[in-house]
Amino acid sequence: MAKTAIITGSARGIGAAIALKLAQSGFNVALNDLNEKSFEGTDIIAECEKFGITAKAYYADVSKSDECEKLAKAVKEDFGEISALVNNAGITRDGLIARMSDEQYDMVIAVNQKSVFNMTKFVSNIMLRQKYGRIVNIASVAGLYGNPGQMNYSASKAAVIGMTKTAAKELGRKNITVNAVAPGFISTPMTDKLTEEQKAKMLEAIAMRRYGTPEEVAEVVDFLCSDKASYVTGQVIEISGGLSM
Ligand code: NAP
Repeated sequence: MAKTAIITGSARGIGAAIALKLAQSGFNVALNDLNEKSFEGTDIIAECEKFGITAKAYYADVSKSDECEKLAKAVKEDFGEISALVNNAGITRDGLIARMSDEQYDMVIAVNQKSVFNMTKFVSNIMLRQKYGRIVNIASVAGLYGNPGQMNYSASKAAVIGMTKTAAKELGRKNITVNAVAPGFISTPMTDKLTEEQKAKMLEAIAMRRYGTPEEVAEVVDFLCSDKASYVTGQVIEISGGLSM
């Protein structure tokens, strides 16, 4: 039986690249995004199915506990098991500290951080019974080093790193590994929103003098979801072209 992976926020960007890579590796993929509209104009389901696996879209707002519970149940019912969970859904609502609204702060924490608790809670419950699982959280270099204008975002991603280590310690004895990746500057619709000035400044700080691609993130996530990474847990792997040395 093929293994199944859930990838949150996977209609586009890094999540879509991860779904495609996991499909290529033989996983059935449960793609998630907010609603039907999120998948409009993408052919990600058909692209994944070209690898001979089953791909299906599930609509859920992963910041909401009840929607995550339904999502985990539906995937288990449809595919019979869940071997991998990639907590990828994320948003930015940037602003300087003095000008950041409560709404901006709370929303980023809910989508980037609470979602990881929600999904890990309901999916690990299934993985515990299977005595097998791979969980990969998409953090960010902002969570490791901070980033001006992103107090909300860096708080959420630093929390995700702490949550990764806690979950790794709690779930390790049941053969469930939990790791995080911390991408640097990856070209996606999320980073398209930055000004040219912000982008140029970023490039200066990257040893490889280029931005990363969603596919380069997907390769590392694929490794962490595979049996090759069977003794790797509680780790944070930077994918940043040498941003932080
Ligand atoms: P993206 O292109 O904006 O894609 C994010 C996806 O998440 C979108 O499809 C979005 O759906 C979905 N989403 C948003 N809120 C959701 C919710 N509540 N429930 C379910 N899905 C939701 O972003 P990306 O650049 O690929 O980022 C993916 C992850 O990598 C994020 O966690 C981000 O923080 C992290 N990351 C990105 C970079 C980078 O340089 N791009 C760097 C470090 C870390 P809609 O389109 O419908 O809103």
